[in-house]
Amino acid sequence: MDATTAPILLHGHQAQGLYDLVLDHLGKLLCEAPMGAHKPCGQCPACHMMAANNHPDLRLLMPQAVAIDLGFPLELKSSAKPSNDIRIDDVRELQNYFTMASSRGADRYVVIYPFDAMNTNTANALLKTLEEPPHGLRFILVGSRLDNLLPTIRSRCQALPVLQPSISECVDWLQTQGVASPDVALSVAMDDPFEARKLALHQPDQLELRRKLLEWLANPDQHAAVPAGLEKAGLAAVLELSMRLCHDCTHIAQGLKADYFAWLAPKLLWAKKVPIQQWSLLYTALQREFRLAHHPINPRLALEFVGQQWQTLNQ
Ligand SMILES: [Zn+2]
Repeated sequence: MDATTAPILLHGHQAQGLYDLVLDHLGKLLCEAPMGAHKPCGQCPACHMMAANNHPDLRLLMPQAVAIDLGFPLELKSSAKPSNDIRIDDVRELQNYFTMASSRGADRYVVIYPFDAMNTNTANALLKTLEEPPHGLRFILVGSRLDNLLPTIRSRCQALPVLQPSISECVDWLQTQGVASPDVALSVAMDDPFEARKLALHQPDQLELRRKLLEWLANPDQHAAVPAGLEKAGLAAVLELSMRLCHDCTHIAQGLKADYFAWLAPKLLWAKKVPIQQWSLLYTALQREFRLAHHPINPRLALEFVGQQWQTLNQ
């Protein structure tokens, strides 16, 4: 296998952004307009097929749940839950495609997204094809969690790491997307700009809940009473945001800058009065709880736990 046919492994913090980038690029490669265009012409048969998601020389290998999220029509048995894994059946369905000739006379592509959704069986089923791709078949693997990829797959790919944009670049971009208070949106989306845009434009209630959670924790007089409805923020968000806020408070207590929620820093000056060991204890307690976050804990109870932990700071 030479470097020009090796599967490309594109990895970085914002996997969805990389996926968009790859599809954009493939749109240009597959466009059949005369050379020289910097973007797909939008007029040729290939561009029409791309727009309709049925270009015969491009296949997407992704979990059903991701396909649904991206708006692809998917036929599921009414009782079946969409899979979060790329299943071995999904790979089997592509076996014919792997060996087929190009429909439009150029290279054919398979995009695997996100590559960390391949389970061991799926990865093993693809191994041979990735090692020796049939002539003209190019694989592009896109994702963020390189550690979750089998080393055998990783070693067959040409890895292209993509650096994360800076916070200020993300904030500027969110502004161009029409997001109000982009710094707040980005911070409550754990610095993921796509998530921030989604929250701000499509789930403003969720964004507001997360902001409310942080405002609640930032006010030491309120820790005893969990505001009504806050559990709708979801367990994982509650714990991750409270850990990030705890991190910021620890910094402020040491006379440093807040890393995550600079917009909330003026309300966190009280953090300086709390001994630094107390902050460490709180962080450890939240971390312990965070490890359980994917188990079915009642979110309301978890919030009460978070509130109680923050209350201990002032005792
Ligand atoms: Zn075109």
